[in-house]
Amino acid sequence: MKYELDIHCHTISSGHAFSTLEENIRVAAERELKLLAITDHAPSMPGGAHLYHFYNMRIIPDVIRGVRILKGAEANIIDYQGSIDLDEEVMTNLDLVIASLHPPCLEFGTESEHTKTIVEAMNNRRVNIIGHPGDKRYSFNIREVVSASKETGTLLEINNSSLKPTSYRPGSDIIIRQMVEECLLQNVPLIMGSDAHFSAEVGDFTEASALLKEMAFPEEMILNNSAEEFLKFL
Ligand SMILES: [Zn+2]
Ligand SMILES: [Zn+2]
Repeated sequence: MKYELDIHCHTISSGHAFSTLEENIRVAAERELKLLAITDHAPSMPGGAHLYHFYNMRIIPDVIRGVRILKGAEANIIDYQGSIDLDEEVMTNLDLVIASLHPPCLEFGTESEHTKTIVEAMNNRRVNIIGHPGDKRYSFNIREVVSASKETGTLLEINNSSLKPTSYRPGSDIIIRQMVEECLLQNVPLIMGSDAHFSAEVGDFTEASALLKEMAFPEEMILNNSAEEFLKFL
């Protein structure tokens, strides 16, 4: 299956990623992606991009090398009320917002605290996607979070980097599999993201797509299939 879009990648603006915007877009074009979202880390992440980075994304053309570019951010969830580290004014300038749980931006809590945190972030109408749910240090009630995805339209990401042997979130596959099963039960679509921190990873869904295939998750419920449909969904 050829996927048309990647909604999650980082550039050198994130502080711990190693490619430029140009390099990421070159790989996206080579892999014939139709759409790429640039989602650098928001300011609470050590080394993350400054707020001015997100304000100034408007200068990036909408289409580069034939690839539609979405100006986005990977915001940090910073408290158990699901608050994120980007304000409304910044987000009105962005095409796409991912909200993720990252140490050291949020302390590890209890399963019920994490569940409330994620559900509250999903209720934020500016948040389009929850990034890499599955980190076992931030365990959550899977049924409640999948129900919230269904109710709010905020997507859950199957993060390719989490499933790699080099992942900083080892053991994610167990939670991800339970989440995929629950999405099958509740008929909730999913989105894959490469979470590329180096250009060669852009559009690489090897691990995520293998897992979804193995679990017989229907192709039509994977929102990477059509850039046009994804834009409508947004
Ligand atoms: Zn992240
Ligand atoms: Zn990321």
